Amino acid sequence: MRAMLLDEPGGPLRSAEVDIPSPGPGEALLKVRSAGVGLTLAHIREARGPRVKFPRIIGHEIAGGIVEVGSGVTALSKGERCLVHFYLNCWNCKWCRIGRETLCSNLRGNVGTVVDGGFAEYVALPYQNFIPIPDELDYEAAAVTADAICTPWHVMKSRAHVKPMDDVLIIGAAGGVGIHAVQMAKLFGARVIAVDISEEKLAFCRQYGADEVINGRAQDIVEEVSRLTDGKGVEVCADFFGSPQTAEAGINALSTAGTFVIVGVEPGTFPFNISRLLREQVITGNRYCSYEEMREVIRVVARGLVKPVVTKRVALEDVEEVFDTLSRQTLLGRAAISFD
Ligand SMILES: [Zn+2]
Repeated sequence: MRAMLLDEPGGPLRSAEVDIPSPGPGEALLKVRSAGVGLTLAHIREARGPRVKFPRIIGHEIAGGIVEVGSGVTALSKGERCLVHFYLNCWNCKWCRIGRETLCSNLRGNVGTVVDGGFAEYVALPYQNFIPIPDELDYEAAAVTADAICTPWHVMKSRAHVKPMDDVLIIGAAGGVGIHAVQMAKLFGARVIAVDISEEKLAFCRQYGADEVINGRAQDIVEEVSRLTDGKGVEVCADFFGSPQTAEAGINALSTAGTFVIVGVEPGTFPFNISRLLREQVITGNRYCSYEEMREVIRVVARGLVKPVVTKRVALEDVEEVFDTLSRQTLLGRAAISFD
């Protein structure tokens, strides 16, 4: 099969012909029809993210059709259309048993980091990682749902508990996950204040429902939030960029009893006045989404309540083009590899 191999951290993606994997007991083989490409993969590629074993076929946003099932698999059948939940969890620990599988105590790692992922024509994974999709969802929409849409669902619903009339600040709002977070917060009835770094990106956020926008390079985020909320601050800030600077701004922009959720992965520290927590603010993080939330959000997308935003499509062998765009910070929304 055709695949793009990553031989070492930060190295080029190499086009190669490799054997089609054979599904072992409890596994299934998926013919990949679409794979999403975003910033998480750029971090994984540079080994800034979760540990990666090399050589590796990266790619964790995957959708396609089941073509073979291994022994013992009865929950899936050939021909079934599925997307992939990309955490390889144990299903036995406390967290797996209470529906918070991404906190698994025995996590093996992720699809595309410790096992091969979606930058290939086929992928073999444990059957539990494949979640069936309805006919209304095309493969590209399903692939993007597998991270860029299900992650902000977990953020807004389970971490931030967004309510109607909340003011929600979204930092990194024009990115692949952020632009779906904008739509999600609107779906929950909030007023959305979108932060990004260019006028083109801010116009893009407005196009997908942002009520107000802030240029994080040209404007002071905390001052603008204060102006837009008459000094109240935002009930929720979701930070999809996640640098010490954006986190500090996001926390300082919170209202009394507001919630800050970090989703991005830029490491670092900043000074923090702990007395502000006496205003009952909540500072937390987000780790992907549960299997049940993924089943929910598939129905949300199938009903057209959130639109998958893919602005760039490439063939498998041209995926470097997407990483160039990501490194220039010019990609709007998500990109996807089309295998048709
Ligand atoms: Zn577990």
